[in-house]
Amino acid sequence: MLIYLNGEFVQEEDAKVSVFDHGLLYGDGVFEGIRAYNGRVFRLREHIERMWDSAKTIDLKIPITKEEMEEAILETLRKNDLKDAYIRPIITRGVGDLGLDPNKCATPTIIVIATGWGAMYGDLYDKGLTAITCSIRRNPAQSLPPNVKSLNYLNNIMAKIEANYKGGDEAIFFDTNGYVAEGSGDNIYVVKNGVIITPHTLNNLRGITRMVLLEVADEMGIPVLEQNLGYFDLYTADEVIVTGSAAEVAPVTKIDGREIGTGKPGPVVKQLMAGFTLKTETEGTPVY
Ligand code: PMP
Repeated sequence: MLIYLNGEFVQEEDAKVSVFDHGLLYGDGVFEGIRAYNGRVFRLREHIERMWDSAKTIDLKIPITKEEMEEAILETLRKNDLKDAYIRPIITRGVGDLGLDPNKCATPTIIVIATGWGAMYGDLYDKGLTAITCSIRRNPAQSLPPNVKSLNYLNNIMAKIEANYKGGDEAIFFDTNGYVAEGSGDNIYVVKNGVIITPHTLNNLRGITRMVLLEVADEMGIPVLEQNLGYFDLYTADEVIVTGSAAEVAPVTKIDGREIGTGKPGPVVKQLMAGFTLKTETEGTPVY
């Protein structure tokens, strides 16, 4: 596997980063998770824009242009002969000393990894995911805004650990006000009486797949509301859905032991999954 590392393509075993890199020492950096479908990168520009916004927020000055990053991503796919892939661009603060000060880090480290990766949840797209609500709150926007896709994912990993202990495929975060925020790695929606309801995007990541899902819903004439949700809304929903670039569009059929709706993926999620797949098959930036 060839990895893009600071402007060069190197073999995986040679793709090494310093132990003084602040991405490693402090999670100081940003990343993206992007998919390519059949030789086209899905929503590439949107991911790059979000990456730049994340970097801007943490005052990380990226030494290459958005176009250069896009080209690095496309070239990584070409070099690895990949048509369907999961792509992970990473920009860290770079190599510094053992102190926190980012001013000591001269140059950001830029990495692009691309691998073949099929459906993240395997057969659960047919069966539905089992989720748990998480006792740990999502980072509040007043601290580290969840809108920043930073390398500091410990909050999410703590949620995942809880899901693992409780036998869940995914953990659902609440925000510090007690409202539903998002999954550990995806955005969340409930469907009630034919209406999709999803939280506002202050206390979650502004998912690119979320944007796509809202587009699909609009095109299909399914009404969407953005409003606060509590655990009552989760348990009493007709359907619960999660979305992400890795997860794609997935039904949740059990939360904290309660069956959601009929306990099987419902008609709305099935429609949305089909609409999403159609977009992934017909849109995207050509690799070749
Ligand atoms: N929330 C979190 C915490 C995530 O890690 C992700 C995955 N990037 C998402 C939501 C979904 O975002 P996207 O659809 O852009 O992948």
